[in-house]
Amino acid sequence: MAQVLGPHPRLLIPSVEALDQIAKPAVPAHRGLPVGIPPFISTTEQDWTLNAFCRRHGWKIWLKGPYYDAVQVNWWPSFLSLRTAFQATWGTEKLFLQAHVRGLEESISFSAYQGRLLDVVHMVKRDITPEGKTWGGRIDDPVPEFLNPLRAIVKELNWSGGAELEMIRNPAGELWLMEINPRFPAWIHGATIAGRNLAGRLVEAASGIAMSEAVPQSNEFARIVLEMPVRAGYPIPPLQEPMNGSQLHSGKYPSGMPMLAHRLHALRSRSVPASVPLEAAPSVATVPASFIKDILGADLDNVETPSRILLPSTAAHSFAQLAEAARAASSPACEVRAAYSIKTNPDERLIKMAYDVGFLAEAISELEVGKALEVGFLPEQVILNGPAKAWPSQARSRPVHAIFCDSLDELRQVVQRAVGGEELAEIIGVRLRGPQLISRFGIPVVSREIFYDMIGLLRALPQHFRIGCHFHIASSNFGIGQWWRLYDSSLRCAKAIESCTDRAVECVDIGGGWFPDDFENDLMPKLGDAIRQAREALPSLRTFVLEPGRAMVQHSMAVAMRVLEVRRFQGVPQDIVVDGSIAELPLAWQFPHRILQRDHKSGEWQPMARGPARILGRLCMEDDIVAPNVQLRADITEGQLLAICDAGAYESSMAYTFGRGKSNGL
Ligand SMILES: *Cc1c(COP(=O)(O)O)cnc(C)c1O
Repeated sequence: MAQVLGPHPRLLIPSVEALDQIAKPAVPAHRGLPVGIPPFISTTEQDWTLNAFCRRHGWKIWLKGPYYDAVQVNWWPSFLSLRTAFQATWGTEKLFLQAHVRGLEESISFSAYQGRLLDVVHMVKRDITPEGKTWGGRIDDPVPEFLNPLRAIVKELNWSGGAELEMIRNPAGELWLMEINPRFPAWIHGATIAGRNLAGRLVEAASGIAMSEAVPQSNEFARIVLEMPVRAGYPIPPLQEPMNGSQLHSGKYPSGMPMLAHRLHALRSRSVPASVPLEAAPSVATVPASFIKDILGADLDNVETPSRILLPSTAAHSFAQLAEAARAASSPACEVRAAYSIKTNPDERLIKMAYDVGFLAEAISELEVGKALEVGFLPEQVILNGPAKAWPSQARSRPVHAIFCDSLDELRQVVQRAVGGEELAEIIGVRLRGPQLISRFGIPVVSREIFYDMIGLLRALPQHFRIGCHFHIASSNFGIGQWWRLYDSSLRCAKAIESCTDRAVECVDIGGGWFPDDFENDLMPKLGDAIRQAREALPSLRTFVLEPGRAMVQHSMAVAMRVLEVRRFQGVPQDIVVDGSIAELPLAWQFPHRILQRDHKSGEWQPMARGPARILGRLCMEDDIVAPNVQLRADITEGQLLAICDAGAYESSMAYTFGRGKSNGL
């Protein structure tokens, strides 16, 4: 209406310019108000960047549409399917992701005419429906720190009409603005019950006719449901039959909002205000320069595809960088060691790289220990971790560096053997399972009985064994903030172990589970502080261990594949089928992978951007989709080479033989 009818004395709505100033998610008009805007990112960014945003905010993320609609996404595959549904419902790719804010909802609603603030109330929700709609609330006056800037904003925007600012107050008491809606909220009559007739004030200002004052009855209101007769001749249309089995997202909006949105986009594409960040051009895909350098060195013209290729300088850089950081963080009192998790990728070349730069080896089975020894590690350079270590045939001439026990029963077994004189390891430790952790691993120290038994066993351990504590959660799933909170609580638990056993905890091992970018950008810069914190908590700490797998090697390999078939529709490539598959990329659906394509004329490798096309695998399986959203070049041809990057961790160790005419060898 603002666009089509423009300013009109009887139209009690804000102007197009004012509406642009309240556009989600940036809400430019909020400046001056004592509110923050939760971090957000446009989904037009590359998937690699979107995934990093989600990890950074602990996978407590909302996917939101341009006008309506918000769903919580808690892992990558659900984001992918919800993004597709939202794009179809709202007819646009310009959606955004926003970090979750923990807290309780409140609102400010106001009424204004031609830039003059007429009345304003503050409403704190007291009851909500399962969809979060207000079902009861308390009405108060807004505080002056809110009122004064709001008055200035209303003036600046020359606002006419009603409005609601939807906010969340976090446990620290800070307000976060979700959105400003250019209309009265559905609960507005609740304000009238409190003696504040906002709608009346607006009509009064516009018409000059005095409104009847609202009588204050209570400053709290509750909503009720009312059945009412339907007028004969105007029946309610029958319900739509739900689509059998399929969940049509737009079915949530019987009001026709999605249809209106599709039309609005057609309108807006003619008059797009440059200020709205959602209209930004799609970002470009990039990969680190070392990927291309390493792939150029692989002579792929003479390689049978699909083929996993090592990116040697990329891999070596990660190992060297961590080795150097560990050396720099070490002190005479406390040594910092990195241990390579063999299971993540047992390729000998990678284990050798770890060995060469001075890592320890971390093994979860006797076969892995054998592999480490084969590459050159000594027993005292091996850490045994994972569940249940009483593997057969583990007669070793020398003790290993450390054993971490995953359960009380295992600890009992290990302590018994130690008491019996076996020199199992220099360090005997426990893997801790913290209070809020849902995990099958570690000793659940939240139980007083279990903690008590653990202390008893550790006290019985002969004095010459050193005691260690280990914890491990995947920050890539739980989020970085959660990881650091767990680090904190693990140190407190280790401290409790010290005071209860009367023995020093001399080793802390923080496990793996890091996405390479987070390891480099978050953990590494904070490593010095983390070690200081550990030494403060545990003054006798002598060894601090990191056990990265994924962080070292995820980017160390790519899978090269060739295009077998280009499927076109009206000349435009829609899908390609390649000779690779999810058998070589078993986690293709779990996180985004950067993809390179080789230009068949220049031979140059270029990053593939996100787009509407798919890369389909060679297998006769419904879920064999190597990449669901890529931009294909118009001149893509059969035989062209692709390299799916970020395939060097579990993509490699968990790959399987399927559709190759081979049995799997077990
Ligand atoms: C798997 C594993 C690691 C490595 O985990 P990533 O996710 O590959 O970093 C480290 N320590 C232990 C005990 C493990 O089981």
